[in-house]
Amino acid sequence: MAEDLLPLLGVNMDNGDGDDEDDDDGDDDENLMDDIEIELNINNEDEDIPENSQAKKQESKKSAKKPERQQSIPITFDSSLPMSHSYLGNDLEEVRGRTIHDDESLITLPIIQLPGIVLIPGQTIPLHLFHQHTVAMIKGVVDTDKTFGVVAYSHDDGAHTMATIGTTAEIFSARDETDDDTGLSTIRVKAKGRQRFQIVETERSPTGILIGKVRILPEKILPDCLEGARPLSHCKFCCPPDQDSMVRTCTAVDRQGKVLTSVAMSRNRQINRFTAACYTWWPPWVYKMYDADLVMQRTKEELHKWNETLRPENMPQDPIELSYWVTQNLPLDDGLRVNLLSIDSAVQRLRCALSIIEKCSILCCKGCGSQVANKKDVFSLSIEGPLGAYVNPGGYVHETMTVHKAQNLNLIGRPSTEHSWFPGYAWTIAQCRRCNSHMGWKFTSTMKELKPQKFWGLTRSSVVPGLHDLDEGDAEWMPVM
Ligand SMILES: [Zn+2]
Repeated sequence: MAEDLLPLLGVNMDNGDGDDEDDDDGDDDENLMDDIEIELNINNEDEDIPENSQAKKQESKKSAKKPERQQSIPITFDSSLPMSHSYLGNDLEEVRGRTIHDDESLITLPIIQLPGIVLIPGQTIPLHLFHQHTVAMIKGVVDTDKTFGVVAYSHDDGAHTMATIGTTAEIFSARDETDDDTGLSTIRVKAKGRQRFQIVETERSPTGILIGKVRILPEKILPDCLEGARPLSHCKFCCPPDQDSMVRTCTAVDRQGKVLTSVAMSRNRQINRFTAACYTWWPPWVYKMYDADLVMQRTKEELHKWNETLRPENMPQDPIELSYWVTQNLPLDDGLRVNLLSIDSAVQRLRCALSIIEKCSILCCKGCGSQVANKKDVFSLSIEGPLGAYVNPGGYVHETMTVHKAQNLNLIGRPSTEHSWFPGYAWTIAQCRRCNSHMGWKFTSTMKELKPQKFWGLTRSSVVPGLHDLDEGDAEWMPVM
C-alpha cells in the first residue's frame, strides 16, 4: 500500500476544489466522535489508568449533544520555543562553519543510525548521546567539518534493516560533559539536516562506529517545458515573474509619438505562461501539473484546509525548501518518508506529497489501525511546523506531531513538567486504548494564560496516515499498513 502511493502523480491542477467539499460533509460524524472522546479523556486525565471508560463513554455520549465545529484556536505559546530545545540546557556552545559537498561527490562520513528517524534537509534534530564511542566520534566531528550522517533503521521481525538513503546533519551547537566520578562522557547536540545521500558501502571502525561511503544526491531542477514553444513575440504580453501584481499597459503610438490607444495587459501571468501549450501536442493543464509555482500553491492551499494554523505565508516560498518542509511535517511512515527523500526533483517530491495530502484524512494507530486523530486537528505550535524531533532524557529521539484533539487513547501516570519539550506544559504518557501501543503524550498547560490549554503530541513512529482514494467515491477509510 505504501508503495502504491508514489505512482499517484496524476494530480489535476484544475479540479481540486470540488472534491474536498464531500470530505467536509462526511467528517461531521467523525467530529462528533472527536468531541465525545475528548470529553472522555478530560474526565480521565487525573486517573492513572481509566478502568470504567465504557461507562463514562456512555455518559459522555449522552451529554455531547452539540458537536463543535472546527474553529480558530487562539495560540499564545511562543512558537520559537520548541525549536530552541531548552530542555537540553542553555549552556550549549554555538559551533560555526559549514561544509557543503558537491552533488554526486563521493564522501566518507560517520553515520548514526536512529530508529524511526528519517532526517529531512532543513529539519532540526536534537541528540543526547551516552555511548562512549559515539560521544568521542561526535566530539571529533565538532572539531572538524561538523558533519555526520543520519540514517533510519527498523527492527522488523528481528531483522535489522538500514535505509539506503540518508541525510547529512550539521552540528550547530553542542556541549560535552565528563562525570568526574565515573569518567563517563555525554554530549548534547543540536544539528540540522542538510544534504541527501545514498549509501554506497559501509564498514565498522575499530571502535564500532559505522563509517559510510556515500554519494551526495543532486537536486534536479526541471526546466520550463514551454520555454522552447513560446514565441518571443508573445513574451511582451507576459508580465515579468517578479511583477505579478502589476498591471502592464501597452500603448500604440503614431510616428509623432502621439498615443493612439492604450491597452491594459493581463496581470495574470499564469494564463499567459501556458498559452504556448496551444502550439504543442499537450493541453495547458498537462504543463500546469509540473509547474513549480502552481504545485506549491496547491500544496499550501490543501494544507491550509487541514487547519488554519497551517498558514501558507508561514511555509517556505522556495519549491525545494517547501518540498522538504512538507516531507518533514506530513505524518508519513518511515518507508514513505524515505521514498520522498529519494526523489531528486522538488516538483516531483511536492506532487507525491500533494497526492498524500489530498488522500490523507485521519491518523491511525500503527499497531491496530484505530483512528487516533483527524487531519483537521493537526496544527502548528512550532515555527518549524506541526512535526518536530525531540529527545528524551534517555537519549531516544521522537518525531512528534502536534494535534488539538485525539481519541481512542488512554493516559498513563500523572502529568509531569520535567524535561518538557514545550515549556509551560506538563506531559502525560498516552497509549492506544485498543492495543496499548505508546502513541505519544498529552500536554496540559501549567499556566492559565497559556493557550492552547491542552494538546496532544503523537509520535510519528506510532501513527500512519489513513488514506482515502478519491477516485473510489465512498471507499472506506483505511490505514496504510
Ligand atoms: Zn492501537
